[in-house]
Amino acid sequence: MRDDTIAAIATPPGEGGVAIVRLSGPEAIAIADRVFRGRTPLRSIESHRLVYGHLVDPATEAVLDEVLVGVMRRPRSFTREDVVELNVHGGRLVARRALELVLKEGARLAEPGEFTLRAFLNGRIDLAQAEATLDVIRAETEAALLAAGRALRGAFGEAVRAVRAALLRLVTRLEVAVDYPEYDEPDVTRAEIAAELEALVGRLRALRGEAALGRLLRDGVPTAIVGRPNAGKSSLFNALAGEERAIVTDVPGTTRDVLEVRLVVGDVVLRLVDTAGIRRSDDPVEAIGIERARKALREASLVLAVVDGARPLSPEDAALLAELRERSAIVVLNKSDLPSVVTPEAVAAHLPSAPVVRVSARTGAGLPALRAAILRVLGLSPEARPEAMATANARHLAALDAALEAVEAARRAAGAGAPEDAVLVDLRQALRHLGAILGEDVDETVIRTIFSDFCVGK
Ligand code: GDP
Ligand code: ZN
Repeated sequence: MRDDTIAAIATPPGEGGVAIVRLSGPEAIAIADRVFRGRTPLRSIESHRLVYGHLVDPATEAVLDEVLVGVMRRPRSFTREDVVELNVHGGRLVARRALELVLKEGARLAEPGEFTLRAFLNGRIDLAQAEATLDVIRAETEAALLAAGRALRGAFGEAVRAVRAALLRLVTRLEVAVDYPEYDEPDVTRAEIAAELEALVGRLRALRGEAALGRLLRDGVPTAIVGRPNAGKSSLFNALAGEERAIVTDVPGTTRDVLEVRLVVGDVVLRLVDTAGIRRSDDPVEAIGIERARKALREASLVLAVVDGARPLSPEDAALLAELRERSAIVVLNKSDLPSVVTPEAVAAHLPSAPVVRVSARTGAGLPALRAAILRVLGLSPEARPEAMATANARHLAALDAALEAVEAARRAAGAGAPEDAVLVDLRQALRHLGAILGEDVDETVIRTIFSDFCVGK
């Protein structure tokens, strides 16, 4: 339990119906009592009640505002500490004055995210839930909000805990085998352990897959539009974005900057990048754009390959398509308003795995089909999406990757007949990585970075 009491304005700045000054800590009620005048002092009211009264400056007894005050006694509060919320009239000045009063009476101004940090440190929520708080606040689509809500209620942490429990059971069994070899039944054990490791790898892979989708929902999908000059990349970008954002010209090579637009497709935010076209160039300015385009392509989770459907496929088109074989890609056969020359079969000869969608960036024909294909390729169409999807972030994915790698190493070691303690080293490693998702044994600087993203008062 922290020994100081923190306070902050919990509502956004500006005018509103109500502003809330929140206090948390051992002195929260006592401090609030010194600036509150009501029928009964706050220390004698029941928990989870709102009471009416006045906010006063104790030095002068001057009334600052009418207030409704909520008292949430520990441990039944968000932080598991005593929490007081002063509901004052909305308005910057009133809220600030109320905050100043409680600071003068001994509260300390909270750091960004410090209320949530205390909830985490006091064991009320795990780190993944704390992170999800921010996901809820920042959600840009209905689906992202739902998924963030599930993560906030602990769904993602639960899934991690379930895999961790299975892993822990296996570790315990192996430890027993190491410590009491006389209990060992070699024939059963070897095969069983191999099977359990196999199952664990499968569960971790599935969890990783869901977390990857959860991350796309949370962060948006880095999307690159590629294709040779004049295929219609900028036009498609504009058609999808619904605005003239990129400069469309007839001169090949004029899209020099990499633009990014956040675009909602169904339930997903695409972070769409218009590139300068992937090709060699002697023009240094253009070379910068091309380097950025290459980077955008490398980092993209989705690639829209634009092909001019009204001209024969060029060797350049063919090379680009072949390059996308291992990627989540969609081939956009553009200019469907003109007589078509390129067939989907011709495209499939170079890139058999990708769906091909005919569109006209000029007229907008085919764009709904393209949007549907995007969601399908990502595994995020409403029918295909996991039912209880929760948000996840890059930190979670990195930890899941590391855990998966460790369990795979354990499986290899066990398969090669390594002794139990060797297998255990890898499995304990995996346990640590899964624990880190929930905030166990996590470096303080990591925690600090996570909470520094929060606003004050959260
Ligand atoms: P980029 O170099 O790939 O970005 O191609 P642009 O978007 O700049 O388009 C190149 C040229 O093709 C421009 O003259 C566009 O007007 C034209 N264009 C783009 N999309 C279409 C389309 O769907 N139909 C037709 N007829 N022309 C298009
Ligand atoms: Zn362009």
